[in-house]
Amino acid sequence: MARAQLPRLSVLRLGHRRERDKRITSHLGLTARAFGADEVVLAGEEDPSALETWKSVTERFGGSFDCRYEPKPMAWLRSSSKDGEATIVHLTMYGQPWREAITEISTDKPAIVVVGGTKVPSEMFHLSNHNVSVGNQPHSEVAALAVFLDSWVGPIDDPSRFEGGLIEVVPSTRGKIVINHEEE
Ligand code: SAM
Repeated sequence: MARAQLPRLSVLRLGHRRERDKRITSHLGLTARAFGADEVVLAGEEDPSALETWKSVTERFGGSFDCRYEPKPMAWLRSSSKDGEATIVHLTMYGQPWREAITEISTDKPAIVVVGGTKVPSEMFHLSNHNVSVGNQPHSEVAALAVFLDSWVGPIDDPSRFEGGLIEVVPSTRGKIVINHEEE
């Protein structure tokens, strides 16, 4: 079932390493935003530059996308999942195939989609309501997130999701067409 317009959807990036993961974590947050999440939460090493990139893209390209650093991600997950308040979805190559899983994941409460970087704490596999694989081969957290959100959230083409930006991209079969709202 498509999830667009439903309760808050967060993406949690575990185990960020400032130097090694700079680009991939940045891309992960941008992918979360572009594919329908409401916020990205960074855990691991603190990295103001990742937060700045996400804020800057949101200011320029619109929508209301939040980002923040979480020093205690496992404690946050434990409290969020207490009493079934939020659904925790952990993306892992060891999980249940995503096409099967998306039919079983609740869409009527907030959800947190968790992706790893370095080794994920084993508690993650028990704490999550769903351990979901996008294929059972190792690949990238960015690819896994994009495929999963595209399947679960459904189409995000509605331009109203990204209103209020300085730059609006006009889809085109050739070349680059943008409306610069700064000049209006
Ligand atoms: N364990 C390795 C390491 O320490 O570098 C690789 C971690 S992997 C690149 C990072 C994250 O990508 C995983 O924690 C998981 O969230 C996601 N991931 C990778 N392959 C996946 C798959 N086939 N299905 C779902 N998620 C996947």
